Amino acid sequence: MTVATRKIFVTTALPYANGAFHIGHIMEYIQADIWVRFQRMRGHSVHFVCADDAHGAPIMIAADKVGKTPQEFVAEIAAGRRPYLDGFAIAFDHWHSTDSPENVELSQGIYLALRAAGLIDVREIEQFYDPVKGMFLPDRYIQGECPVCAAPDQYGDSCESCGAVYGATELRNPRSALSGATPELRRSEHYFFRLSDPRCVAYLQDWTRQSDRRGVPRLQPEVFAKAQEWLGGPEGGKLADWDISRDAPYFGIEIPDAPGKYFYVWLDAPIGYLASLKAYCTGAGLDFDALVADPELEQYHFIGKDIIYFHVLFWPAMLHFAGRKTPERVNVHGFINVSGEKMSKSRGTGISPLRYLELGLDPDWLRYYLAAKLNNKVEDVDFNPDDFVARVNSDVVGKLVNIASRCAGFLTRRFDGVLGNADDDALAAFARSWAGADALADLYERRDSGKVVREVMQYADAVNQYIDASKPWEIAKDAARGDELQTVCTTAMTGFRDLVLLLAPIIPGLAQRALAQIGQTDTRWDAIGLPLPAGHRIMAYQHLSARVDPKQVDALFEAPASAVTATATPAAVKPAAAAALSSVAAPAPPEPGSEAISIDDFATLDLRVARVTGAEAVEGSKKLIRLTLDVGALGARTVFSGIRSAYAPEQLVGRHVVLVANLAPRTMKFGVSEGMVLSAGWDDPAQGSGIHLLEPDDGAAPGMKVR
Ligand SMILES: [Zn+2]
Repeated sequence: MTVATRKIFVTTALPYANGAFHIGHIMEYIQADIWVRFQRMRGHSVHFVCADDAHGAPIMIAADKVGKTPQEFVAEIAAGRRPYLDGFAIAFDHWHSTDSPENVELSQGIYLALRAAGLIDVREIEQFYDPVKGMFLPDRYIQGECPVCAAPDQYGDSCESCGAVYGATELRNPRSALSGATPELRRSEHYFFRLSDPRCVAYLQDWTRQSDRRGVPRLQPEVFAKAQEWLGGPEGGKLADWDISRDAPYFGIEIPDAPGKYFYVWLDAPIGYLASLKAYCTGAGLDFDALVADPELEQYHFIGKDIIYFHVLFWPAMLHFAGRKTPERVNVHGFINVSGEKMSKSRGTGISPLRYLELGLDPDWLRYYLAAKLNNKVEDVDFNPDDFVARVNSDVVGKLVNIASRCAGFLTRRFDGVLGNADDDALAAFARSWAGADALADLYERRDSGKVVREVMQYADAVNQYIDASKPWEIAKDAARGDELQTVCTTAMTGFRDLVLLLAPIIPGLAQRALAQIGQTDTRWDAIGLPLPAGHRIMAYQHLSARVDPKQVDALFEAPASAVTATATPAAVKPAAAAALSSVAAPAPPEPGSEAISIDDFATLDLRVARVTGAEAVEGSKKLIRLTLDVGALGARTVFSGIRSAYAPEQLVGRHVVLVANLAPRTMKFGVSEGMVLSAGWDDPAQGSGIHLLEPDDGAAPGMKVR
């Protein structure tokens, strides 16, 4: 069915430019890329852009720590993006930065329009100020005791121990996490976007309820429910005004007519979508202003569930009252977990996408696996290594590639690659096995890739059953049955061509190789179901996809030596001469060093007494024991420790150990290890291979600091 050409503008959320991509970013890019590739197959015009979110205090502080300017810092991060995007075949038209002239111009313009609409207020507020660093402190850079449960070392916005949410000024004994100084309360003028204005509330009540021009609700039901909660139900009245300014020093965009004031990073970040589109237009010779003013342009954002508030309240209100186009739909996905364990953005754990590529794992495998698990609900997706291997091997190799590998060879060897007449009855049976191209287009449109994959695999099953029943390998033994052999293989290859086109948005690399072999140059969605004409010639079959080797996937969860050193704060652990760190995350014991370190270096280690409350052998590992630790105020931790050669799990419960509590968590095949337990041992196995856990003297209690 031919459809009218649409003009579509698609973005993914802008990643914060303070670190490399993690698997959660890649999942979002893959989900959006599948949708974009599908729309392009349909013949629509799609502009697909993203950018680094470069501004804000965390980047300013991180850059300062390593002696770089924020600009240098984000430029280095940006330079590392390309291998991920190319590696996973993410077809962005443009990658930009919010620290760009386009974004300055657009952000200031939108702000001025909001001001002209009477939606900007200036108010004095009280805030913590670091007298040593000479700056106002963001909440995450203030630490103190929880005002509710008195847990130490809590941040200025919420307590990790009891979960209480509070204002930074409520913390007891606050101190600056930057300088250690006691912060002072100072007054400062801040700029607010008046989200509580009745015009904004009325507009958002309306906008969040609408459907887009295709009749699809702008917001998924779960997202709409959240928005209603924030809006205060149909009566409204719950929205607070939004503080959009920060005082210098700040890495950001200056607020017009307000010396020393900058836009809060979340004001200019989504405007970065438009800035990236504008930069793309400039490069491509397109008229940006005309494009974004075109009523036919549909604007879509793919985001994670953690940034809904910004995208369904602030963003549409900002755009609307600045006289701009608002999003057609906001597509929200859940998080990705690994082996059922939650990953955290701020902790940066998870399987490394770059390591996946370095190990030679096919990007199409991950794309297929994630597509099979994703739908249009705000659900978390679980990456399970065994399931990944089983799913890819069964579907991609066992069902899809298997068709070509069983039939293409007969055509090239016996018929010089020339196709015969297809079996119309068989093709009709294929067509009955799945929902059809229009239904699948609808599933793609609604981002229900999980259902797409299930439908396509039903079609693949039908083709494989046809091959099993027809037994081309038997027919081939009888020279008199040449026509029959040619028909069976032609029929199967026609089905294979459809399957490849149907999955092309999901597995673009494999699809491209397969279509080249089939000699199919028409890659439009409309080509699905067209006959491969008799006389058409296919190329010799070449291997299209290997089976996943489970060993490769295991290797994904083993830390390469360099990564271990990087996470284990090497300067600090080096002098611990013979006290090897016994977590398997650090298989190579640090070298016995004589290099002196300062007390400050040592102080970067948070060593704590912990009590073992649970210990069990890890199935599938000869080295590992899974320890559950009580770390007092820090709560319970799970640590995988490579001490099984020296200890039986039942020996460990109840004893005290020493935990490196601030080691970056590591995702392993079996789960997330949240720290490392200290033990002693020789570097040189010739001196003995024993592992000896460190244990504090009697009287030490869980949570105590080891100094
Ligand atoms: Zn608390």
